[in-house]
Amino acid sequence: MKISFYGVRGSVSVSGQQFVKYGGNTSCVHVELDCGKHLIFDAGTGLKDLGNVLIKTDQPIYLLLSHHHWDHIQGFPFFAPIHFAKSDLNLLMPAVSENEVFPLLQQMGGRTFPLNYQDLPAQIKTIGLVENSNYDFLTSTRLSTLALNHPGSGLAYKLEAEGVTLAYVTDNELFPPHAPINHYDEWVKFLHGVDVLIHDAQYVDEDMPHKCGWGHSTIRQVIKLAQDAEVKNLALFHHDHERTDDQLDAIAKECDTLLHNNNNLTHSFCTYQGLSLILDKNGLSSV
Ligand SMILES: [Zn+2]
Ligand SMILES: [Zn+2]
Repeated sequence: MKISFYGVRGSVSVSGQQFVKYGGNTSCVHVELDCGKHLIFDAGTGLKDLGNVLIKTDQPIYLLLSHHHWDHIQGFPFFAPIHFAKSDLNLLMPAVSENEVFPLLQQMGGRTFPLNYQDLPAQIKTIGLVENSNYDFLTSTRLSTLALNHPGSGLAYKLEAEGVTLAYVTDNELFPPHAPINHYDEWVKFLHGVDVLIHDAQYVDEDMPHKCGWGHSTIRQVIKLAQDAEVKNLALFHHDHERTDDQLDAIAKECDTLLHNNNNLTHSFCTYQGLSLILDKNGLSSV
């Protein structure tokens, strides 16, 4: 599979000279399976650019939403395929109650966006997902869910396909100040041995305790998780909106040192907008 990062920023999109290298778009990761089908994790502002690529596809598109916070849904109204009748879109999201509209769609309701989601020409199917479940919505793939430790809740995803495993876990606070929905040990179990873990790494130690309870993890905590779960590749994701290119370069170096000092086999890297990787049975490699 090919994994491409269209947005790696957390909370709000940013622009400016200090953010050129890692990019300013919010959460959006594209996975193209070898069979040609398209999966997308989250609909942050990065989804707009991805839409310009996927407008050419005649394959179904599966959008998997972690949760409905703004930085994960704001790209949806600008996703070109929703405006064309030929598009086959499957929206897989944390389930809502019976009479509730998915906030991803509700944002297109006239008040907060000029177009109404009910008028979109694309064929759109919505599917509500729940925690601790397995889904086989695509042939030869398996999707597992675990509830995020995050205000407003949400889902972490583990995708098993083509003999490899990819986990997408954002936004997630590994050690919240209150009782977590899933304890640290549950995360270690859920993520054990995955080939690639994309995890929220929004904060550094200096952000605590001020931002404790805001629903995100520190980089040091995520590194510990990757080591304990024997993850092969850790992709640091959902960078804080204030974090500059220089600071992220320093973080990437520090992570390398931390993992190296512990004699660990986990490889880590800071994701950036525009990064594309191939994951197959031979491991992870650059495109
Ligand atoms: Zn977020
Ligand atoms: Zn969030």
